[in-house]
Amino acid sequence: MSGFHRYVGVVHVHTAFSDGTGDIEEVIAAARAVSLDFIVITDHNDLRAKGYEGWHGDTLVLAGEEITRPGGNHMLALGIEEFIPPELSPQEAIDAAKAQGGLAFLAHPFYRGSPINGDPPLPWRDWDVVGFDGIEVWNLTSDLYQSLGERGIESPPRDPLIYASPNPEALRKWDELLARGYTVGLGGLDAHAERVARWGNEVILPYDKSFRALRLHLFLREPLKKDLEHDRYLIYNGLASGNFAIVFDWIGEGRDAFLRADCCGKAFLPGETIGWEGAHIRGEFPQGTWIRLVSGGEEVWRGEGSMEFEIDAYGIYRLEAFRDDRIWILFNPFYCLPEGGGGRERIYSLRKTFRR
Ligand SMILES: [Zn+2]
Ligand SMILES: [Zn+2]
Repeated sequence: MSGFHRYVGVVHVHTAFSDGTGDIEEVIAAARAVSLDFIVITDHNDLRAKGYEGWHGDTLVLAGEEITRPGGNHMLALGIEEFIPPELSPQEAIDAAKAQGGLAFLAHPFYRGSPINGDPPLPWRDWDVVGFDGIEVWNLTSDLYQSLGERGIESPPRDPLIYASPNPEALRKWDELLARGYTVGLGGLDAHAERVARWGNEVILPYDKSFRALRLHLFLREPLKKDLEHDRYLIYNGLASGNFAIVFDWIGEGRDAFLRADCCGKAFLPGETIGWEGAHIRGEFPQGTWIRLVSGGEEVWRGEGSMEFEIDAYGIYRLEAFRDDRIWILFNPFYCLPEGGGGRERIYSLRKTFRR
């Protein structure tokens, strides 16, 4: 993907600072062992991981907080400097994260809980909130536990990831939110490497396994330069802008897949506003990849392998790629909007408020 730099990383990781089973050194070592470019640790109501921010070898470690309340309304606050107390209301917590120049993502917004690990339902409940950056459309751990529970899987499968998939309700909600404004779709791990008592205290998702499974492929116009301040800004700005794809690398290495929009001799990244009609969306995918383009919650095009699609109407276009009949990649959308953004000013204000 010429002109762009791809960085592969994960977000939403728990350590022993909250209820993860690995201490932070162990978690960082696992991230380095699988060559992640970045990892964002988000412990429950805890910001101690911030003391470890920086480059550890070739892995950039960043830390935020999962603002955690009983019964749901969990929120990932990234790029913050100061602890946000869980006693705040959901709206106050979003405002607090934004006031610090940070990002706010609603975590596992449709998690119904699971008998496998004994989780109660922990969905996002307060949908009247405004001003958040996006939602987790795929939470590897909770979506997996929910799916194992719904399927009545009684004993530990040889590889539980054969049951992993994004949350269909969260995907529907994403399309609904996109119809109202700019919304980033996030893929998080919720990695805890927890032991599942009913399955003989087996760890079904060790850190290194989840770090290889579901990752964000972030596309940047300028390279990271091993400078914490500079690189943290680029990573968070890319996440806030949706310049990434959620890739289920467990199905197949997604490094060769790419997607861009071309218009008037310029190339645009996922998450960017194209701003006029007549753009082309171009994607390159390995043989055997099925792709569908979704706009307004409807499939507007489908095909196989590499693709080119001419946008002939204003809209918000996101692409899903499938392999072996399973979702492999979810790209953040291109925003093809009339001049002025059609009421979607947030996309501009967001970039202005993220503090460098
Ligand atoms: Zn949570
Ligand atoms: Zn979590």
